[in-house]
Amino acid sequence: MSTLEIKDLHVSIETEQGRKPILKGVSLTINTGETHAIMGPNGSGKSTLASTIAGHPRYTVDSGSITLDGEDVLSMSVDERARAGLFLAMQYPVEVPGVTMTNFLRTAKTALDGEAPSLRHWTKDVKAAMSDLRIDADFAQRNVNEGFSGGEKKRVEILQLELFHPKFAILDETDSGLDVDALKVVSEGVNREHSKGGMGTLLITHYTRILRYIKPDFVHVFVDGHIAEQGGPELADRLEEEGYDRFTGANAAAG
Ligand code: ADP
Ligand code: MG
Ligand code: MG
Repeated sequence: MSTLEIKDLHVSIETEQGRKPILKGVSLTINTGETHAIMGPNGSGKSTLASTIAGHPRYTVDSGSITLDGEDVLSMSVDERARAGLFLAMQYPVEVPGVTMTNFLRTAKTALDGEAPSLRHWTKDVKAAMSDLRIDADFAQRNVNEGFSGGEKKRVEILQLELFHPKFAILDETDSGLDVDALKVVSEGVNREHSKGGMGTLLITHYTRILRYIKPDFVHVFVDGHIAEQGGPELADRLEEEGYDRFTGANAAAG
């Protein structure tokens, strides 16, 4: 078993008005095999947490720690984090012009494992995973994310997840912009990877809809840069009914 541990994390960003604190003491422990959902209103810092785990240079860690099995993640480069087993699916995936999916996936897999995958198995694995995710075979020769629809980008993210076998997957609004069919396909991919054992998942979402397909063990409500409440799956049901008003202090009647 592996453990990703976030302890009293404070993160800020530089803005034109000066330094702005965003994360204000986040503590969270995820073990492999567990699925944690982070839910919260827009602007509460969910993507900041995901980007900080991934090592995005824009975010400054003022205090606190992130460790993977005791190893200091914050001192690792982005590549080192990926090799240590962290996988981040971005809310806004980037396009990589001039690089085909096939080349990108094989290059990334080689960098992650430190050796090239056996071509025979690899080609078979890629084909099978693409078929499972209902990604057309043509996509193998297309440039990464170039001209992909929102739903296609999400499927390709989960394709990477299924081929790279990370220890921890951080999925930031993987559900945004997906119709129900795509949401099911993407969720099935996450569940398949989960059932192989050993993956810990941090599922970040604004809406409860994806939690019908990916069942969280723990739910954390994120408000104003910290975890305001924690619970089991029943907390997600409650949020579906009540929204975030009781956390944000908004007038429920104003809806
Ligand atoms: P969430 O993902 O929960 O919607 P974010 O982490 O994206 O929240 O944002 C948290 C807060 O940080 C918001 O107030 C947002 O405006 C601010 N923020 C995040 N990234 C930037 C940025 N690059 N520049 C300015 N403000 C930012
Ligand atoms: Mg947002
Ligand atoms: Mg976000």
